[in-house]
Amino acid sequence: MSQHSIAIIGVGKIAIDQHLPVIAKNPAFRLAALVSQRGVQQPGVPTFATPAELYAALPDLDAVAICTPPSVRHAVALEALAAGKHVMLEKPPAPTVSELADLERHAGAGKRVLFATWHSQYNAGVDEARRRLAGQKIAALAITWKEDVKRWHPGQEWIWQPGGFGVFDPGINALSILTRIVPEPFFVSAAKLVYPANRDTPIAASLRFSSTAAEPGAPLTAEFDWRQTGDQTWTIEIRTAAGSVLTLIDGGSKLAVDGTLVVSEPMAEYEAIYARFAGLLDRGESAVDAAPFHLVADAMLVGARETTDAFDW
Ligand code: NAP
Repeated sequence: MSQHSIAIIGVGKIAIDQHLPVIAKNPAFRLAALVSQRGVQQPGVPTFATPAELYAALPDLDAVAICTPPSVRHAVALEALAAGKHVMLEKPPAPTVSELADLERHAGAGKRVLFATWHSQYNAGVDEARRRLAGQKIAALAITWKEDVKRWHPGQEWIWQPGGFGVFDPGINALSILTRIVPEPFFVSAAKLVYPANRDTPIAASLRFSSTAAEPGAPLTAEFDWRQTGDQTWTIEIRTAAGSVLTLIDGGSKLAVDGTLVVSEPMAEYEAIYARFAGLLDRGESAVDAAPFHLVADAMLVGARETTDAFDW
C-alpha cells in the first residue's frame, strides 16, 4: 500500500467534521495542504487561497478532495485533473449531469482517478439490505427523509441558490442508498417540488417512482422535507412481494427486518470512503456512480412546482 498526499479544497462543515479527522487516522493518506478562501488553518500544513497556488507550490501532490458547494465543483475538478491530480468529489458530484459526464471524460483521457462519493452508501445496514433484497420483487417502498435545515445547514446560503439542490442535498443521500440496495433501475414517474416564495431551490419534495424491480402498481414513494423540527427521520422501508419488511433507520446505520434489528452500528461513512479511495488510487481505477444524480435531475424535469411560505434563517 502506497501513501498518497492529499489536499482538501473548501474547508467548511463536512471537511472539518469528517475529511480532516478521517485523513489523520488513515495511514494511506498524508494531508499535504488546504485550499481555503477564508484562510482556514490546520497545524503542520500550508493553506493556499486558490487551487492554482496549491498546484504551483506542491507539484508532486497526488490527490485532492473537493468539499466546496456543488455549484463550483466542475471548474475546480477540471483544474485539478488538468494539473494531473486524482480527484475525490463530495456529493452531489456536480451541479449538472453533463458536467459530471465531462469530468469522467477528462479523468479517463488523463488517466486520473475520479471518485464520486456517496457517503450514505457506506452505512452498515446498506450492504446487508442489498444482500437481502437480491432476487426479491418489491411490493412497496417508502423513503422518509425529514430533517431540520436550520440544524444541519446553519447559514449555508448556497443551498438555496440555483445549483444548490435545496432539499435534494440530503434527499440525494436517500436516493444513493436506494440505487445501491436495488441494482435495477428506478424511474421518477411524478414529483411535487415545494419552493419557499423567496428561494430558488425546494424545501420539500414528494416523488413517485416506477421500477422493474417492483410489482406492477406497487406504491414507490419518497418524501423529503427540510422543515422537520424535533426528532429527525432518515428511513427507507421496503416490503417485498414475499411479505418481509426491511427498514433502514438513521440513514442506513441500522437495519430492521420484520421489526427486529439485525444491524446496528455506529456511522463510519468517511472511514469507508477513504479506504475505498486508497484502493482506487492503488489500482488506478475511477468510480463514478451517476444513478442517484440522475434521479434528482429527473425529478426536476418532471416535477410540478408549488410555492410555500418564505424561508429565513
Ligand atoms: P459549507 O460548510 O458551506 O462548506 C463549503 C466550503 O467550501 C466553504 O466553507 C468554503 O470554504 C468553500 N466555498 C464556499 N463557496 C465556495 C465557492 N464559491 N468556491 C469555492 N469554495 C467555496 O458546506 P458543507 O456542509 O461542508 O458542504 C459541502 C459539500 O459537502 C456539499 O456538497 C454537501 O452536500 C456535502 N456534504 C455535507 C455534509 C454536512 O453534514 N454538512 C455531509 C455530507 C456531505 P473555504 O472558505 O475554506 O474555501
